[in-house]
Amino acid sequence: MTDSDDALLPLDAVRPPASSKDTKGAPAPAPERPVARVAVDSPLPHLDRLFDYLVPDSMHETAEPGVRVRVRFAGKLVDGFLLERADESDHDGRLMPLERVVSPERVLTPEIAGLARAVADRYAGTLTDVLRLAVPPRHAKAESEEPAKQDLPPAEPSQTESAWNAYPTGPSFLGALRDGRAPRAVWSALPGARGWAGATAEAVRATLDGGRGAVVVVPDGKDVALADGEFARVLGPGRHVALTADLGPAERYRRWLKVLRGQVRAVVGTRAAMFAPVADLGLVAIWDDGDDLHAERLAPYPHAREVLGLRAHRTGAAMLIGGYARTAEATQLIASGWARPIVAARTTIRGLGPRVRPAGEDAELAKDQAARQARLPSLAWRALRHGLESGPVLVQVPRRGYLPALACRHCRTPARCALPPTRRTALPPDPHAGTALPMPEAPAEAGHLCHGPLALRGGHAAPYCRWCGRVDADWRCSSCGSPRLRAVVTGARRTAEELGRAFPSVQVRTSGRDGVLATVPATRALVVATPGAEPVAEGGYAAAVLLDGWALLGRADLRAGEEAVRRWMNAAALLRPSAELVVLGDAALPAVQALLRWDPVTHAERELGDRAELGFPPAVRMATLTGVASAVRQMLDEVRLPPDAEVLGPVPVDEAGQERAMIRVRRSGGAALSAALKGASGVRAARKTPDVVKVSVDPLDLI
Ligand SMILES: [Zn+2]
Ligand SMILES: [Zn+2]
Repeated sequence: MTDSDDALLPLDAVRPPASSKDTKGAPAPAPERPVARVAVDSPLPHLDRLFDYLVPDSMHETAEPGVRVRVRFAGKLVDGFLLERADESDHDGRLMPLERVVSPERVLTPEIAGLARAVADRYAGTLTDVLRLAVPPRHAKAESEEPAKQDLPPAEPSQTESAWNAYPTGPSFLGALRDGRAPRAVWSALPGARGWAGATAEAVRATLDGGRGAVVVVPDGKDVALADGEFARVLGPGRHVALTADLGPAERYRRWLKVLRGQVRAVVGTRAAMFAPVADLGLVAIWDDGDDLHAERLAPYPHAREVLGLRAHRTGAAMLIGGYARTAEATQLIASGWARPIVAARTTIRGLGPRVRPAGEDAELAKDQAARQARLPSLAWRALRHGLESGPVLVQVPRRGYLPALACRHCRTPARCALPPTRRTALPPDPHAGTALPMPEAPAEAGHLCHGPLALRGGHAAPYCRWCGRVDADWRCSSCGSPRLRAVVTGARRTAEELGRAFPSVQVRTSGRDGVLATVPATRALVVATPGAEPVAEGGYAAAVLLDGWALLGRADLRAGEEAVRRWMNAAALLRPSAELVVLGDAALPAVQALLRWDPVTHAERELGDRAELGFPPAVRMATLTGVASAVRQMLDEVRLPPDAEVLGPVPVDEAGQERAMIRVRRSGGAALSAALKGASGVRAARKTPDVVKVSVDPLDLI
């Protein structure tokens, strides 16, 4: 790249005008390391690198790596982070001086700076975008406050029986944390509402006892509150902070500073806490990694499990991925040997789990008039009535608005596109071949198919593919050969009022979109909740009915089966041991089987195998490009994809002319794919192309 190429690199942004040859008025440089390398706050992908500035003598003491600075960039004053001080600059020509050091607080630690770079590269994003997620906005007052002196008494020895004794490999995991080693585990937690929080607190305690710090990320505020209490109990007061978005900027920044300044070494919080600057990190942990709240909503859309995994990898910290259910991603980490499973013995699980019974589609409805009105199968009605004799009962109802999937009418196998990818880049050159000729349009290999989900458009008999957009008039079920399709039954929405009428004289409590209850007392009550909003019941629920089986399983979502198991198990874990649970679902379905046997592991392994066969993440790396049609097509034409990449689409995604294309590569090609997409975005930005194409690597909603 030449200096005259100022369309790509505004070097004039950091270089004083050529005419100012005299040095009059220029500040004296710092006596040592007079060059500051600055990450400038600019969203433009082609400017995603460090820029050199001069450190004036007056800022020599304060302009340390990690501080916030103000610099002149492309004629404007902008924010930035100072990342390094150096003796010399590669840039020939005079450097612009730093405008000022905003605060001497070194808010960006070397570990987080390196992590942010790695996350940006992983997700085809910019360092600035990740830093915006990683370092909270400054709150000057909180920063200037004198930290309250706290002399903590030495932590009391842990006394209670360890929750980890219930797992054969649990005690050795704790021991390794205490000894400063880096075990990595995928933990299938035993049912029981509070058990996970207490066990996680113990893992943090062991890490602190070993002289290192810990970061724990959980899905929502309800989980933070639960963990906060358990951490206080197990760690003792003042040894951790809870970080959530709803604290308000001052309090959140105050707590974050405590972590940065090393006053506390343990953090529990929602996804932004994944970047908490805990010093000397010994453990990163994530609870319920299948919850989609763990995926960041802002560019470059990183996922907490991935970010924490990168942190563990880069720092040599231990990692704990916990949940009642298990994701295909966590299963992949076990399959690759990166992590080991922590699972309880079958007898232990049987003693703590609920007694699950399925009620299939043809289940007999209750005879009771009101229960019939609420379309409650008699099995479910009896379980609830019996449970209500001794305490609260839970009914999980579906949320509104799931998009139904198409499936084989005969055997219910989800209907998938059986056409080859829209386009495919050349295979990697064969080293044994004499010449490696470029093959722009290599024919698809047999078996390498799109596998996108099929859908029906009004008035058309033949289904089309949501990924590649083509109509497949000759579709036949891959399992049974039937040519007939149906939209999966989504079940009826039962309201709290309808259900309440079936149990007159019982108090009805609801938890969902209009207000989430964290807990309910141990008294008799019918608790109606949507998935994810189930309150913890004092002493556990006496019974539960999961009414949303068809809705969850029938969603047009690649993860529908895994997600159904996860949501069912999260609700079922809130029951008393051996309490009765009825799930509306066919016992022959693998997801229902997983709940019946409380065996998330077999289900997850099968799920991972299916995804490998179909070419879905995490077996492959996938990226989506979304934007106006012409922009998406132009970027597809320009991007230099790694060998063997498959392009699906583009297809329209809305009425406004937005289109989406997908790119699929083997896992080994993931880094090359991200780099290629970043490069293509940079070219577009440098050209000042107005239409932005949103790039998302491994998005969760692959519908
Ligand atoms: Zn079939
Ligand atoms: Zn397709």
